[in-house]
Amino acid sequence: MNSGKHKPHRTTEREFGGVLGATCIPVFLPLTVLYLLSVCRSPTASVLQWPPPLPHATFLWDPVAPAIVLGWVALQSFLYLLPAGKVSEGLVLRDGSRLKYPINGFCAFCCSAGLIGLGLWLGLPLAYLFELIIPLAVTAIALSYLLSLYLYVRSFWAPAHALALGGNTGNPLYDFFMGRELNPRIAGFDLKYFCELRPGLIGWVVLNLGMLMKEVELRESPSVAMLLVNCFQLLYVTDALWNEEAVLTTMDIVHDGFGFMLAFGDLAWVPFTYGLQAIFLVAHPQSLSPMGAAGIILLNGLGYYIFRKSNSQKNQFRRDPTHPSVANLETIATATGKRLLVSGWWGFVRHPNYLGDILMALAWSLPCGLSHIVPYFYVIYFTILLIHREDRDERQCRAKYGLAWDTYCKRVPYRIIPYVY
Ligand code: NDP
Repeated sequence: MNSGKHKPHRTTEREFGGVLGATCIPVFLPLTVLYLLSVCRSPTASVLQWPPPLPHATFLWDPVAPAIVLGWVALQSFLYLLPAGKVSEGLVLRDGSRLKYPINGFCAFCCSAGLIGLGLWLGLPLAYLFELIIPLAVTAIALSYLLSLYLYVRSFWAPAHALALGGNTGNPLYDFFMGRELNPRIAGFDLKYFCELRPGLIGWVVLNLGMLMKEVELRESPSVAMLLVNCFQLLYVTDALWNEEAVLTTMDIVHDGFGFMLAFGDLAWVPFTYGLQAIFLVAHPQSLSPMGAAGIILLNGLGYYIFRKSNSQKNQFRRDPTHPSVANLETIATATGKRLLVSGWWGFVRHPNYLGDILMALAWSLPCGLSHIVPYFYVIYFTILLIHREDRDERQCRAKYGLAWDTYCKRVPYRIIPYVY
């Protein structure tokens, strides 16, 4: 337990609606996952149905689901531990140390793809994931609760410098939600870093593939809409794992503690809500004209281009500001010694990477047609999330850079969408 010299640094500023938000979100969001999955699979797929099509208790549980989820997490843990790829250092921590992280997520992804391919060749009934989707989600939700509870309890043995600044208010509900410990590890195995990109993100594209196989089972071949959704989301996940090292400088790793917010987000929310479009398409086939498909591909390409270029530019600049690709960009000095880009992508809007991400999110929903709102859940939710995230980041940057940040905001007045927001 923390005592005396191990006292956590207590903060008073509260996010996500404070204690009320931290109490309601862990109840409300898991129910939202189950609700959205049920709506997607229901014949009308309408969010206006009353009573809502919540799954009957007998459909919530299937003994196969925990076996799949635990087996999947065990496989990903094994792949994480493989001595493949390089090892990178994270940013400097408050005690001056730097943690080491294995950069082998892409390798884990390729091994998982190989195993799934082999499984399909041997007759693995991947289409059954469609029937199993709700018990799988229930298991993932239960797992994220158990993990968060473990993380909360073990954090009381962590030294003060290992605690996140935001998740140590002393209120148990709020701290359980935000996460107390910054980088919880079991013998070098980094739990937050592992959950961030592997079981949920790779699981998401496997679920998508399962939906595609279900469509083949029902209609003999996959639709263009299903292929687009699978390919777009596969590109996104592949990109994230290929650029795994970039996650080491994100807010999630650098700033946020590991609690329910991230555990549930990584293990349940991402795999079971980001791919709703594929689940929707199994039950509600859509036809797309060649022009429509081409327009959607262009939109996704544009979004991906903005997203990748802007993220790479900032990562390169942060890693080596003298690199020829960024050395000629205009910058402003800050009191911390770090500089801020005011030209290039980061002179266009203050979060060009969010703009690209939102355009891609729209392209993932459009193959589902315009008749239903539920396949647009991701783009609506994601836009709200990024606006909120931008606001959090803005406050952190203002605290970090003070006047220099205000100068940047004057030079680049729009946050995400030029002339709109
Ligand atoms: P960002 O990559 O946007 O990083 C924000 C940080 O960049 C700031 O804190 C600041 O940190 C630095 N920065 C801001 N402005 C400048 C500037 N002008 N010049 C130099 N540095 C600057 O953070 P996120 O982690 O939010 O996003 C990363 C990517 O992940 C985005 O593409 C986002 O869309 C995506 N994302 C996807 C999610 C999903 O669920 N699909 C969820 C969240 C994010 P510092 O100065 O300290 O370096």
